[in-house]
Amino acid sequence: MPTVLGIPLDVNSSYLRGAAEAPAKIREALRCDASNKWTELGVDLGAVGAFSDAGDLPLNDSPEKVEADFAEIERAVSGLLEKGECPVSLGGDHSVTYPIVKAFARRYPGLTIVHFDAHPDLYDEFEGSRVSHACPFARIMEKQLAERLVQVGIRTINGHQREQAARFGVEVVEMRALPAYDRLKIDGPVYVSFDMDVLDPAFAPGISHREPGGMTVREAIAHLHAIEGTMVGADIVEYNPGQDASGMTATVAAKILKEILGKMIAGA
Ligand code: MN
Ligand code: MN
Repeated sequence: MPTVLGIPLDVNSSYLRGAAEAPAKIREALRCDASNKWTELGVDLGAVGAFSDAGDLPLNDSPEKVEADFAEIERAVSGLLEKGECPVSLGGDHSVTYPIVKAFARRYPGLTIVHFDAHPDLYDEFEGSRVSHACPFARIMEKQLAERLVQVGIRTINGHQREQAARFGVEVVEMRALPAYDRLKIDGPVYVSFDMDVLDPAFAPGISHREPGGMTVREAIAHLHAIEGTMVGADIVEYNPGQDASGMTATVAAKILKEILGKMIAGA
């Protein structure tokens, strides 16, 4: 069963804090009576037992305690996986994906990660940190935690990250190359990491790094729906309520969460 897990951690965010406030806001938007609980793939998330919620992890969210927080994230995700659950984590900044995927790699050898993002997050280190939210996929690939990494929506790649992508064999699908439905026909277990800034800031301004020229909400949903393979887990990261004056981005994050949960349940 899909299980929502809140990961309120934004200490590794390089430019703005605030993403730690996201899990509560996304849950609130998901519960909002402005919309019903049916997903576009025909799944009723309001049905008893459709999905569960493991609550928020108790984290320190301080620079001195990053190692302990990462260990707690990995432990909690491992625990859910051992119970046969499919964790869908709500960040938090994107650094949380590294300890999450450590847990997934043990359970699912041959894992493919489909990574939606404006940014490749492949820096070897960023501003002196190797656990920055700019680095998680460098850590994941150098530890060989995923067999394939397919990045979709990228539009900020620089020389260093292009070298890193080549070094690790990352399949980078740049924003200008979309649509890319045929690149999402995957064999085996799939983990989706969805950075909200893959969306155009016109649709989702409540993020820390606004990068124009991104996906519409419809393009993102169409690419999520196009994924083949078995979706065994996911995260939605980088929603920053402090930048979301209208509250619209919470609604968009909840919509993405709905469609991910529906896709996992429908197995479609
Ligand atoms: Mn990211
Ligand atoms: Mn990003």
